[in-house]
Amino acid sequence: MYPDVQLLIDGHWRAAEGGRSIPVLNPATEEVVGTVAHASRGDLDEALAAAERGFRTWRRTSAYDRAKLMRKAADLLRERAGDIARLMTLEQGKPLGEAKGETLAGADVIDWFAEEARRAYGRVIPARAEGVYQLVVKEPVGPVAAFTPWNFPINQVVRKLSAALAAGCSIIVKAPEETPASPAELIRAFVDAGVPAGVVQLVYGVPAEISEYLIPHPVIRKVTFTGSTPVGKQLAALAGLHMKRATMELGGHAPAIVFADADIDAASKLLAGSKYRNAGQVCVSPTRFLVQEQVFDRFVDGFVAASREIKVGNGLDKGVTMGPLANERRIPAMEALLGDARQKGAEIRTGGNRIGNKGYFFEPTVVTGVTREMRVMNEEPFGPVAVMVPFREFDEVVEEANRLPYGLASYAFTRSARTAQAIAAEVESGMMTVNHLGLALPEVPFGGVKDSGYGSEGGSEAIEAYLNPKFVSQAGI
Ligand code: NAD
Repeated sequence: MYPDVQLLIDGHWRAAEGGRSIPVLNPATEEVVGTVAHASRGDLDEALAAAERGFRTWRRTSAYDRAKLMRKAADLLRERAGDIARLMTLEQGKPLGEAKGETLAGADVIDWFAEEARRAYGRVIPARAEGVYQLVVKEPVGPVAAFTPWNFPINQVVRKLSAALAAGCSIIVKAPEETPASPAELIRAFVDAGVPAGVVQLVYGVPAEISEYLIPHPVIRKVTFTGSTPVGKQLAALAGLHMKRATMELGGHAPAIVFADADIDAASKLLAGSKYRNAGQVCVSPTRFLVQEQVFDRFVDGFVAASREIKVGNGLDKGVTMGPLANERRIPAMEALLGDARQKGAEIRTGGNRIGNKGYFFEPTVVTGVTREMRVMNEEPFGPVAVMVPFREFDEVVEEANRLPYGLASYAFTRSARTAQAIAAEVESGMMTVNHLGLALPEVPFGGVKDSGYGSEGGSEAIEAYLNPKFVSQAGI
């Protein structure tokens, strides 16, 4: 049922040189479900040579034809979404409904970028002399190296892949070894839709070895990474050293700010749903709940009640609303953060423990009585942990929201238009959503500021990251 996942190099699906592979585990059962090919240096050299050739073909393919092929890939992905979702749940743990939603959303991302391919306009600048045409044309940057994590196995790849292909770039995707089959199926949709050999490569292996080899390599012209801030800084430094353009989508510790005049019951329900999606392993997950003191108890009670309703279990089982954590190391990560908070006097209002001893299940957890000295107030939990802090006044909550070096997503709930405008202006983040959850659609920008990275993976900005403007000034003869 679960495949032995192969590399894609120069249009061929194949095993790694020497047949090396890595086992893939189901995080709900801890059983080995399959393997993934482990690329060698020789495999990477072939991938680089193929990407160089693929770029020469693809940049000459018209935007109209690129878009047509991409839309076909999107249709194939939609047709196959049911089977792909099962693979994703098996390897990553998220409930089947979430896995299917992610796959279908991936098809929408492809469609959006297919349309953007045909709108990658340049411009004409009025000249100072008669007969002179000053043109700005957009050219693809060249072969891309993309590194993606395990929390959204399809979503993290599809944004990079679609933007690169729309712009006319070829790409080498280093997809996550822990969740390899569903991103391979995404890429299969492009291959089956007819993308020429060499335009897309897929590799797996030791992430650091692959990035250290690909990023400085002269064939690669652009680097894009989603993952943790420490790794992002290393890769951005390497890209900078070799003058490669880079997009970095890194960690966050999103403030969810609830003012006393908000619809408190609606806010606690909505935010709890968002908190436990993908077991909290989401870079835009709300993590620091900053709640005005008059409504603090009511909000916490509502949130705790909603947390207790979450049904944790194997994502393949009916009715399950939260699966296991995606890998074993997330369990000690949760235990360390919560142990530190407990020891420093925090109160665990619900949850706080691993569930059972088979599968990486963890309880939906709400923590109050926290201080800034606790690790959980400073480090991205990346798990099903909600930290709640009361505040008195507007300035105080802005100061707390902006205290950390992160600036990815932020959330606010208020019935006052004035407060909504003010909080959106004051919080240092790449994204803010007020009174609802409105992030991550293909047509809107997606990205962070400060240590959360740079560049956008959505909206019309996203394709620009894969295009170079070229100025051409032309006079008549
Ligand atoms: P990690 O920092 O080891 O790895 C994060 C991702 O980066 C993984 O996909 C990994 O394969 C990749 N990676 C690691 N080192 C790399 C390198 N040198 N070159 C290229 N890729 C590399 O952390 P982890 O244990 O896998 O995840 C834990 C933390 O990572 C979380 O706490 C969270 O902060 C962050 N994370 C963020 C996202 C996101 O969507 N922004 C996704 C997954 C993980």
